[in-house]
Amino acid sequence: MYLYSNTNTGFAAIMSLTSEMAILVSAATAILVGVGAWLIWRARRKHLASPNSVNKLASALRDEQQKADIIVNAIEDGVVLFDDQLVIHSFNPGAASITGWSGADATNLELATVVKIVDSKGQPYPPETDPTRRVFTEKATIHVKDAELITSSGKRLAISLTISPLIGAQQKVFAAVATFRDMTAERAEEQRRGEFVSTASHEMRTPVAAIEGYLALALNDKVSIIDSRAREYLEKAHTSTQHLGQLFQDLLTSAKAEDGRLSSHPVPVEMGSYLQQLTDDLRFAADKKQLGVQFVTGVSNTIDTANTANTKVIRPLYYTLIDPDRMREVVTNLFDNAVKYTDGGTISIGLTGNDEVVQFYVRDTGNGIPTEDTGHLFQKFYRVDNSATRTIGGTGLGLFICRKIVELYQGRIWVESSLGKGSTFFINLPRLNSQQVAKIQSTQMYQAAPE
Ligand code: ADP
Repeated sequence: MYLYSNTNTGFAAIMSLTSEMAILVSAATAILVGVGAWLIWRARRKHLASPNSVNKLASALRDEQQKADIIVNAIEDGVVLFDDQLVIHSFNPGAASITGWSGADATNLELATVVKIVDSKGQPYPPETDPTRRVFTEKATIHVKDAELITSSGKRLAISLTISPLIGAQQKVFAAVATFRDMTAERAEEQRRGEFVSTASHEMRTPVAAIEGYLALALNDKVSIIDSRAREYLEKAHTSTQHLGQLFQDLLTSAKAEDGRLSSHPVPVEMGSYLQQLTDDLRFAADKKQLGVQFVTGVSNTIDTANTANTKVIRPLYYTLIDPDRMREVVTNLFDNAVKYTDGGTISIGLTGNDEVVQFYVRDTGNGIPTEDTGHLFQKFYRVDNSATRTIGGTGLGLFICRKIVELYQGRIWVESSLGKGSTFFINLPRLNSQQVAKIQSTQMYQAAPE
């Protein structure tokens, strides 16, 4: 077995396929020749002359080549080398066993013919998001966790995919290496786990809700008579039961989000009036900590309407296609966190954007988040390990759910934070223009109209 390439001399021949590759090979050869010459010179110095030295060096180089081939062939994952025209130059046995194509047949064919990558819904990627193209424009390694691959027999496999660029002269990506792994068994296992969690949390939520209701009745003066000590105990039990109920609810939502069962009914929403209303609704949650609350739009500086009673605030209409109830969960969660982790100051909900993107954010003046944690916050159950989180209750599921909801609408969520100063959670969503809004609204009205 050997790494299949269009010549049988392995990577050295593959690398000569483009001029950049040739430059690399020449450089590597020059170094090796230099090292070889030095070794020969050293051997000569020691033993005057060794006629076999050069042959030995050549054979050592061949050994290195074979070692590289052995390693790539031993990898169970698919490893495919392709150039900037998306033509395959190398195809290891792992790739052959996953795709069902032989190395001999795959080599020199277009990548998309052999390694048919589609998204998690089985749809082909549009050119701008296609990871095999993005690697050439972004010049960085691309990771796709939830892609699928269609085999030569038409079977759909769940795969995880990494595509790394090979960068040559003038920072040009001249080729790329795709590595992929069949994740079908792992995904099925994950799905079973998710189903168990959602069934268990659904079943447990019902009795917990009943306990919470009875505890509330016991604490209600109008229907129960209890002494002050019993009240103290019942209040504690009530608070804990509420936490438990929230945990089950979050578990249920996150399990649904993971396997794509989160219900969503997207409609065009004008984010300015939507967020303004939401800010007013949420304001009272910040009152108990006496935190200020404000809604700011990105254009407030450009149009001054402060002292002109008859002038209306003119600002762009930022339309997005979202389910307003789902997005309310996201903003409420970010706002509740801002209240939870802030002791004084103001919480701002802001809106800005450009032609393509609507950006909104929730900013606080709280403790901030250490840099090493910011990249992990949107993972399931992740909580920063500090005194604030140890004393403040939470499940570590809220931001995970936020990310899943934002991703439902092709959006992105991230945080920027400064310790001791505060944090800002940003969300970017695709912006709809007025023609798109009109088109979607008329289609939705048509669908909703009675027959
Ligand atoms: P939790 O239920 O623990 O609040 P989240 O997923 O909502 O779970 O948040 C994860 C962690 O992120 C929190 O435990 C906290 O450490 C940190 N965090 C979230 N929002 C903020 C914020 N506004 N300020 C400081 N830390 C925050």
